[in-house]
Amino acid sequence: NDVVSKNFIEQEIDKDLAEGVYDHVCTRFPPEPNGYLHIGHAKSILLNYGLAGKYHGTFNMRFDDTNPTKEKVEFVDSIMEDIRWLGADWEDRLYFASDYFDQMYECAVRLIQKGRAYVCDLSAEEIRAYRGTLTEAGKDSPYRERTVEENLRLFEEMRQGAYQDGEKVLRAKIDMASPNINMRDPVIYRVARMSHHRTGDKWCIYPMYDFAHPIEDAIEGITHSICTLEFEDHRPLYDWVVRECGFENPPRQIEFAKLYLTNVVTGKRYIKKLVEDGIVDGWDDPRLVSIAALRRRGFTPESIKMFIDMCGVSKAQSSVDYAMLEYCIREDLKMKKARMMAVLHPIKLIIDNYPEGETEYLDVPNNLENEALGTRKVPFCRELYIERDDFMEEPPKKYFRLFPGNEVRLMSAYFVTCESFVKDEAGNVTEVHCTYDPETKSGSGFNARKVKGTIHWVAAPYAQKAEVRLYENLVDEEKGVYNKEDGSLNLNPNSLTILKDCFVEPGFEKAEAYDSFQFVRTGFFCIDAKDSAPDALVFNRIVSLKSSFKL
Ligand code: ATP
Ligand code: MG
Ligand code: MG
Repeated sequence: NDVVSKNFIEQEIDKDLAEGVYDHVCTRFPPEPNGYLHIGHAKSILLNYGLAGKYHGTFNMRFDDTNPTKEKVEFVDSIMEDIRWLGADWEDRLYFASDYFDQMYECAVRLIQKGRAYVCDLSAEEIRAYRGTLTEAGKDSPYRERTVEENLRLFEEMRQGAYQDGEKVLRAKIDMASPNINMRDPVIYRVARMSHHRTGDKWCIYPMYDFAHPIEDAIEGITHSICTLEFEDHRPLYDWVVRECGFENPPRQIEFAKLYLTNVVTGKRYIKKLVEDGIVDGWDDPRLVSIAALRRRGFTPESIKMFIDMCGVSKAQSSVDYAMLEYCIREDLKMKKARMMAVLHPIKLIIDNYPEGETEYLDVPNNLENEALGTRKVPFCRELYIERDDFMEEPPKKYFRLFPGNEVRLMSAYFVTCESFVKDEAGNVTEVHCTYDPETKSGSGFNARKVKGTIHWVAAPYAQKAEVRLYENLVDEEKGVYNKEDGSLNLNPNSLTILKDCFVEPGFEKAEAYDSFQFVRTGFFCIDAKDSAPDALVFNRIVSLKSSFKL
C-alpha cells in the first residue's frame, strides 16, 4: 500500500535505488536571489527537503546566483530566513553557485578544446533568427567553424574584458537541426560587465542558466535535480552538459508541475511589480503569498506544510483553490489558540440594572474544544461594547440577536433584554439599553428558559482600542486575473479594510509579534509584526471562521 501513496518522484527514486543507478539521495533547493520566496517555492523546498528526509539522504541549500543583473544580498538573507521558518534544515550544506565560477570556466574551456563550443559574434537578434522555428531547422552561425585555438584565445579575451556586453558569446556546438530548439547551439557564456554581489569585479563573463545549473548539481553530487515543468525541454541539454563536461555520477533531472493558486498573485515577477508599483506595502504585505507575507498574515509553517501535502505532486498543471490554504490554517489554529472577545464595529451596551461602578471577573474558558488551554478572568460591568450589527431596531425574520424586547445571552456572562436605545441627530443608534437577569449567570446551571442568540462583548472601561485589518483576495478572479483590454491586473478594490476603532478585551499587552488568536465569531487574527505596539495594537485577520471549502 505504501507504493500506492507514493508520488511519481518517489516512485522514480525507488526505481533508481533498486536498479543501482544511485545508492543514496541528495536533493537541493536552488533559488535565484532575485526576489522573495512565495508559496510556490515552499512546495519545492518542502518537496526536496522531504525527499532527503524520507530517503535518509542530504538536502543542499544553494543560491543559484549566476546572473548579477537582478541579484541582491537582501534577497539572500530573506530567502534563508524563510526556509528556516518553514523548517527545512540544510545543516552545514549551504552553497553558492558563484563559488563554482572557476570550475564553470574550466568546463567551458574543456568544451572548446573538445570542439564542443565556439565563440560567436552574432548579435542576440541574429542568434534568434538563425535558430529557426519548430517547423524549420536552424542555420549554422558563420562563426561555427572557428578553430579550437581561435576559440580559446577569444574566450580568454572575453574573460579579460576585451569585449562589450553582447559583442561575443560562447555557444555550445550541438546541432542546429535538432527538433529541440534548446539544442541548437545554445549560448552558454555571455559578457556582462557588471559587479556580482559575491565575486565583485572578478568576472565580466557569466554562465547561462542551462549551462551553470547542471554543473552546480554535478559538483555537489546531487542525485535528483527536481525542477518545474518548463524545464522538461531543457533536460536533453542538461544531460549533454553533464556528459560533455565529463562528470561522473550524473544527476538526474525530474520535472513536476508548478503550484498555482486561485485569486492570488504567484510568480516573483508579478509580486515584484505589485511591490514596485506601490500597490502593496512591500514584499510582506499580508495580501501577498510570499512566505514573508504569509508569516506576517499569521499563517504557520504547519499550515503551509499541510497545504502542500494536500496539493500533492504531479506532472499535470492545475490551480489550487485559495480556500484550501485557508482551510489548513483554520485546522492548525482551531484547537491551539485561545478564543478571545473583540468587537470590530463597536456600539455601547448599557445594563441599566447592573450596579454602577461595580466589576466582576468572570471565568471564561479559553477554548471550549480544548480544555487544556484553561480559563481566564474577564471583567464584566455595566457598560460594554457589542458589535453594531448585533442590534437592530427593526429586525428581519430569523434575527435572533438584540432588538427592542428581545433577550440574548452575553457570551460567558448573563442574559440581557433590550429595553431601549438612543439615536444621534443623524439617526444612528449610539447606545443600546438592556436589563440583565442575575439568575442567568453562565456556569450557574440556569435552564429555566432559553434564548436563541448569543453575542460577544467587551467591558468598556477595560477594553483596549485596537486597529484591525481585514483582507480579501488581491485580484478578482470572477472578473479574470488580468484586464482583457490592457492586460493590467484586475485588482479587488476591497482587498484591504482598516478598522481603527475596534475594542479587544484586556490582556493583549503581553502579546508579541505573530501571536495569533481566535476572536469569537469573527475569525483568526494575529499581531502585525510591522505596525503593532503594546499600547497601539494592530491585528491582521488571517482568515474568517467559516469556510466554503469542503474536503
Ligand atoms: P518565479 O517563476 O516565481 O519567478 P523561479 O522559478 O524563477 O520563480 P527560482 O528562484 O529560480 O524562482 O526558483 C527556485 C526553485 O523553486 C526552482 O526549482 C523552481 O522550479 C521552484 N519553483 C518556483 N516557482 C514554483 C512554483 N510555483 N511551484 C513549485 N516550485 C516552484
Ligand atoms: Mg528561475
Ligand atoms: Mg523567475
